[in-house]
Amino acid sequence: MRRPYNRAVDQPPSWMNADLHCHSAVSDGTLEPEALAARAKTNGVELWALTDHDEIGGQKRAMAAASTLGLPYLTGTEISVTFLDTTVHIVGLGFDADDTALAAGLRATRGGRRDRALEMSEGLAKVGIRGAFEGALQYVGNPELMSRTHFARFLVESGVCADTHEVFRKYLVEGKPGFVAHRWATLKNAVNWIADAGGIAVIAHPARYKFTANEEYALFSEFKAHGGRGVEVVTGSHSAADAVRYAETAIEYELLASRGSDFHSPDESHVDLGALPALPAKLTPVWTALETRIHPPA
Ligand code: AMP
Ligand code: MN
Ligand code: MN
Ligand code: MN
Repeated sequence: MRRPYNRAVDQPPSWMNADLHCHSAVSDGTLEPEALAARAKTNGVELWALTDHDEIGGQKRAMAAASTLGLPYLTGTEISVTFLDTTVHIVGLGFDADDTALAAGLRATRGGRRDRALEMSEGLAKVGIRGAFEGALQYVGNPELMSRTHFARFLVESGVCADTHEVFRKYLVEGKPGFVAHRWATLKNAVNWIADAGGIAVIAHPARYKFTANEEYALFSEFKAHGGRGVEVVTGSHSAADAVRYAETAIEYELLASRGSDFHSPDESHVDLGALPALPAKLTPVWTALETRIHPPA
């Protein structure tokens, strides 16, 4: 007789509704870690990670909230890196949240944000937008983490633009009045901080960088040489074609594949927590290499 259907055995790991990329008010999201945990649970997420920019201050809260809900949890962060004069994001998963070197590295990476925000505000003042620093500050949950997103929210609320995407296009990207070039962490440091804390480093949303083939080769090969192990294949800003493309890249570079919505806010994000397509079955999901790092331990 055929044995009964067993979800754990019969479903490939790639089908798991893992959401390993999102932001709380501890960085530039609008929801608190507890509200995100509840939303993830309601939306059917089976494995969750909160990945605030350059910050792990929300990890204990996220882990506790997930635990109360019976939602398996991986620690997370998203580190801002400067590579070839471009900002690249590296997601870290499954590290020890008490690691002091990682905390120090993230603190140093956050360090220049306030001065950068003051400069952004000066740039905006030159085109007639006054008080942007104070305005953006109203939306900030963590004073060490002023982000372009907080400026975008202020410019939408004050009627300058219709939505945050328009603000970025007109004011906050390279060549626009509110853009300030900034040096973030090095690729090597970001990957090492994560790996040395017992986690796995993942290249976030690779389709967003618009690198040439040579530049992309440099990113992936240097990332691997430093000990990076994963790439986000399915994520909020990737099209179906991007996912196909980076599935091939994952295979080519023998990288683990990750999946995460990059959810920031119910009003702004196009993709909700847990609402992404599955990872292509031919890939090795990053969570298969993180089983011992899931909270609570099985
Ligand atoms: P920052 O780290 O301060 O440079 O801000 C980067 C953040 O801005 C990203 O993590 C996104 O949340 C947001 N962002 C970047 N580009 C856009 C865009 N085109 N539309 C909306 N939000 C964006
Ligand atoms: Mn963000
Ligand atoms: Mn990002
Ligand atoms: Mn993100």
